[in-house]
Amino acid sequence: MKTITLIPGDGIGYEVTSSLQKVITAADVKIDWEIINAGEDAYKATGQFIPTSLLESISKNKIVFKGPITTPIGSGFRSINVTLRQKYNTYANIRPIKSIPGIKTPFQNVDLVIVRENSEDLYCGIEHLVTEGVAESIKIITEKASLRIAESAFQYAKTHGRKKVTAVHKANIMKISDGLFLECVRKIAKKYPEIYYEEVIVDNMCMQLVMHPENYDVLVLPNLYGDIISDLGAGLVGGLGLVPGANIGENIAIFEAVHGSAPSIAGLNMANPTACILSATMMLDYIGEQSAASLIRQATAYVIQEGKYTTQDIGGTATTTEMTEAICRYI
Ligand code: NAD
Repeated sequence: MKTITLIPGDGIGYEVTSSLQKVITAADVKIDWEIINAGEDAYKATGQFIPTSLLESISKNKIVFKGPITTPIGSGFRSINVTLRQKYNTYANIRPIKSIPGIKTPFQNVDLVIVRENSEDLYCGIEHLVTEGVAESIKIITEKASLRIAESAFQYAKTHGRKKVTAVHKANIMKISDGLFLECVRKIAKKYPEIYYEEVIVDNMCMQLVMHPENYDVLVLPNLYGDIISDLGAGLVGGLGLVPGANIGENIAIFEAVHGSAPSIAGLNMANPTACILSATMMLDYIGEQSAASLIRQATAYVIQEGKYTTQDIGGTATTTEMTEAICRYI
C-alpha cells in the first residue's frame, strides 16, 4: 500500500480533498493517507504554518496531494503553496485544460496543456520598499530553470503525442530576462525537430486564446504568465472547478487543483470536486495506477455529461457530496 501525504488546506479544501479520497477508495486503490495540514489552520493548531511533521512526511513519502491554501493579500505570511513548490523544487507545473462534453462554453474543442515554470520569476518573493512610495520586486530567470522547463514541455509533448509547443513571453519588453527564457526554449526545441515550435507574446496569447483556443497544444511559460494563463484557460472550459494540476520535481510530486480556497463558498457543500478528482487521477497515473485513473476519469465525465448530479458552478443543483457520490457509483 502506498503512503501519500494529504494536506487538506482550508476554505473548500476540506470538502474537495474528502471527495478525492472517497473516489480513490471507490476505484479500489488502497492508499494510506498521512493527513497533516499547513497554512492558517495548521498555525492555529500547532503554532507553525508548515509543521515540522509535514516536512518529514513529504520527505519520506515523496508524493503529496494538496488542497488549496489561503494566502493573505498585501501583508501576512508568504504563500505556503509557493513555499512548498520551491522547497521541494517541484519545478514543472502541468495543467491540462480540456473541453468537457456536457459543459456549455463558447468552445467545444479546447485541448491544451500549460507547462509553467514553478520555481522562480517574480515568485521568488524578493521585494522591498526602496524608499517611501517606491517598491521593487525582482524577477529572476535562470538558464538552468528555463532549460529544465523547456525540456519538460517538449518531453510532455513527445510522450503524449502532441504536435506543437508554444513559448509564451514578453521578451519585446523584458529583453534580458524573458530573452534568456526564449533562448533556452529555442535551444531545447532544436532537439525535437518532429514537434512544431512557435513563440507568442503573452498579451497576444490572451487574445488568441479567447478567440481560437483550438490552435494551441502545449504552452511553456515562465511562472507568472503561466499562473495567469491557467485561470484564463480554466475560463475557456467552464471554470476553475474543472481544471487539475501537478507540480513535478526530480523525486517529489505535489498534486493540486488550479483553483484556490474559494472562501465565499467554503463550508457550504457547493464546491465542484472535479478539479481535485482529476488532479487525483494525474497522481494515480504517476504512481502506476493508470487503470483506476481511467475509470475515475470516465465516471467523472459521465456524471458531468448526464448533468443530474453536478454542482452550481456548472449549471447543476447538486452538492459536493452528491456529485462525489454519483462519481463513486459510476466507477
Ligand atoms: P479561487 O480559485 O479560490 O476562486 C476564484 C473563483 O472561482 C471564485 O468565484 C470561486 O468561488 C470559484 N471556484 C474556485 N474553485 C471552485 C470550485 N472547486 N467549485 C466551484 N467554484 C470554484 O481564487 P481566489 O478567490 O482568487 O483565491 C482565494 C484564495 O485562494 C486566496 O487566498 C488565494 O491566495 C488562494 N489560492 C490558493 C491556491 C493554491 O492553494 N494552490 C491557488 C489559487 C489561489
